[in-house]
Amino acid sequence: MSLSIKEDDRYVVWFDIDNTLYSASSSVYPEMVKRTHAYFMNLGLSAGEASDLQWKYYRQYGLPLRGLVLNHDVDPLHFDKECDGSIPLEEMITFNSSVRKLLQDIDRSKARVWVLTNAYLNHAQRVLRILGLEDQVEGIAYCDYKDPNFTCKPEPAHYRQAMRLANVTETSRCLFVDDSKGHVESAKALGWEGCVHFCETASSSFDGGKEGTNDNGVIVINDLEQLRDVWPYIFINTKSASSKLDH
Ligand SMILES: [Mg+2]
Repeated sequence: MSLSIKEDDRYVVWFDIDNTLYSASSSVYPEMVKRTHAYFMNLGLSAGEASDLQWKYYRQYGLPLRGLVLNHDVDPLHFDKECDGSIPLEEMITFNSSVRKLLQDIDRSKARVWVLTNAYLNHAQRVLRILGLEDQVEGIAYCDYKDPNFTCKPEPAHYRQAMRLANVTETSRCLFVDDSKGHVESAKALGWEGCVHFCETASSSFDGGKEGTNDNGVIVINDLEQLRDVWPYIFINTKSASSKLDH
C-alpha cells in the first residue's frame, strides 16, 4: 500500500499589489519612478541619459533595477532601501474596506489567495499591512533581491517560480489580475486560466486597454468588484445569501 498526499486542487488567485490592490490615484508609482530616476542619475548620468536608460531597462527587463544589477553592479537591497523603502506609503495609501471585503468573500475551500509582485518583500509586506490585507493573503511571490539573478514579471520564469512557491502545478488553476497589460499577457501565454487586466481609468493612459473587452482571452475590468462576475466560481454567493435574509 502506498501513501500519497492528495494534491491541493483549489484555484490560486494571484493579485498584483501596486496600482491593483490600491488605486493608481494614490501616486505611489510616480514616486517610485522619481526615486529610480534619481538613482540612475547618481551613477553619473545626466537627467536625459538617466531617463533614456531607465526606460530602456524597463522595456528590456521588465524592471529598471534588473538592468542596474546586470550592467552596473548595483546592490539591489541598497536600491530597495533608497527607492521603495523611502516612500511615505502611510501618507499615501490607506485601509480599504471594499478590497478587504472582496478578498474575504473569496471562498477559501475553492481558492487560495496569493500576491505576485515585482517589488521586494519589504515593500509588499508594508503595503499589505497598511491596506489591512495581511491576514487575507496566504503567500507572497516577490522579486528576491538577495539573489543576483532574481526574476521578475513578465519573465515566464517568475511565474513558474511563483507556482512552485504556492505548490500549484496546473496553469489551469491559476487566476491573475494585474494593472500591467504585459504582465497579464505573459501569464496568459503560459496558460494561466483566468487572466484579468485591471485598467483603472486613472492609469489607462499609461498602459492601454479597454474596459469590458476580451482581448486574446484577457478580460479587462476597471473596478476590482467586477472580479465577482469574472470569477463567480470562487466567490461566496453573497447575492443569494443576502436575498435569503431579505425573505
Ligand atoms: Mg502593478
